[in-house]
Amino acid sequence: MGLIFAKSRPGRTGVTLPLKDVPVECKLDKRYLRGKDAELPSVSEPEVVRHFTNLSKMNFSVDSNFYPLGSCTMKYNPKITEKIAAMEEFVSLHPLAPQLIRGGMLTQGALEITSNLEKVLCKITGMDEFTTHPMAGAHGELTGVMIIAAYHRNNGNRKKHILIPDSGHGTNPASAAIAGYDVITIKSDKNGVMDLGEFKEKLNEDTAAVMLTCPNTLGIFNPDIKKISDLAHKAGALMYYDGANLNAILGKARPGDLGFDIVHLNLHKTFATPHGGGGPGSGPVGVKKDLEPFLPISRIVKRSDGTFTLDYDKSLSIGYMSPFYGNFAVMLKAYAYILLLGREGLIEVSENAVLNANYLKVKLEGHYDIPYSEVCFHEFVLSASKQLKKGVKAIDIAKALIDEGIHPPTVYFPLIVREAMMIEPTETESKETLDKFIDVMIELALKAEEDPGVFKSFPRNAPVCRPDEVKAVKDMDIADV
Ligand SMILES: *Cc1c(COP(=O)(O)O)cnc(C)c1O
Repeated sequence: MGLIFAKSRPGRTGVTLPLKDVPVECKLDKRYLRGKDAELPSVSEPEVVRHFTNLSKMNFSVDSNFYPLGSCTMKYNPKITEKIAAMEEFVSLHPLAPQLIRGGMLTQGALEITSNLEKVLCKITGMDEFTTHPMAGAHGELTGVMIIAAYHRNNGNRKKHILIPDSGHGTNPASAAIAGYDVITIKSDKNGVMDLGEFKEKLNEDTAAVMLTCPNTLGIFNPDIKKISDLAHKAGALMYYDGANLNAILGKARPGDLGFDIVHLNLHKTFATPHGGGGPGSGPVGVKKDLEPFLPISRIVKRSDGTFTLDYDKSLSIGYMSPFYGNFAVMLKAYAYILLLGREGLIEVSENAVLNANYLKVKLEGHYDIPYSEVCFHEFVLSASKQLKKGVKAIDIAKALIDEGIHPPTVYFPLIVREAMMIEPTETESKETLDKFIDVMIELALKAEEDPGVFKSFPRNAPVCRPDEVKAVKDMDIADV
């Protein structure tokens, strides 16, 4: 818009709106009009290009750097999935079209793709039905917990709480609480999995659900998971699977077979779509048959003539969880990614993700504390507690990595590990990249021994330097909290 008013000047390529297009009559009250012209930028094309290119270079991205951000599965996103999602036939589709032209040819393809995606996600997870409506993992959690509440209510049961292990992602207790449940946290045992004794103690007729991820945020698969789901079911509770770590078990194990009744997936983690910085995401929710009546509306239905339509007439549904039908572009990318890889490809994803994580873990073992040291799945957690003795914290190592062109791991999560650094290399990295990361991490461990003071000055080469943390906290406006 601004360019329209930019005046042509010698040497500049401003654009001037032809006079005939300037609205002559303005109906706005005079007091709303500006007294003098707005100061809009008048810049040449190369200046604009440089401005935005330089801005884009301030971003850390999977396309430019290694990004081992634990739990987030920052894997390379094949460009072909972007191309497919950007096809004119998809992007020009209006979300209201199916309601205006019921069964019209205009949207049949989109409905069919969504329905196919639901089906393939059922196969991958061992669930009976899926909804693609939730816009992110956390939104899927809320949808899932609301379905759990509706199910218990419909059975005439008033349940009070949800059991969540202390290694859980912060969104788990948040979703349970927003849906109206009390949260009971179960501590982890010495092996890093939910303490079975404490679980049995806390499980009772007031338990609505057990909510966990498996493998958990320490990268550990709970060997008692089937026993846990059997106990939960016996007590009348449902099993909720946080699918953020599905990358670890793709094609190897299915939550549905492990006894879970409800799952959310993070399409933007496991199945293409780069994320971070707030989106875009998609958190579809899958359920076993008994929970199907409670899924959000609308539901995609295939008519006997083979066409698709949307069903809003579901009396037990929890209602709308999002406008329209979910984040269609992210769904498209996930569907294309799944078709691209096929069954064998998906199995390779989890095998390589697990292999890469274990390779890093074994190579770094001698240099950092590893509180839970058994074979890990797709991620593992280091502790900088050894380095802390010299005054070097996990955050200092994270900042030093930025200078080496590596995105820091997730730090200070999970909460049960002191000075945690949670590393998830993903399956898309080469051995060369992993070896470089190992070298850098070992070098930093040595530097922490020899010259710990230098860490406070990192990063030195990043576009934005390290903020003064004390000042940042002191200056924080209460409105920001
Ligand atoms: C990322 C993540 C979530 C939340 O998913 P979003 O898509 O970020 O809302 C939940 N649980 C775990 C374990 C996660 O890693």
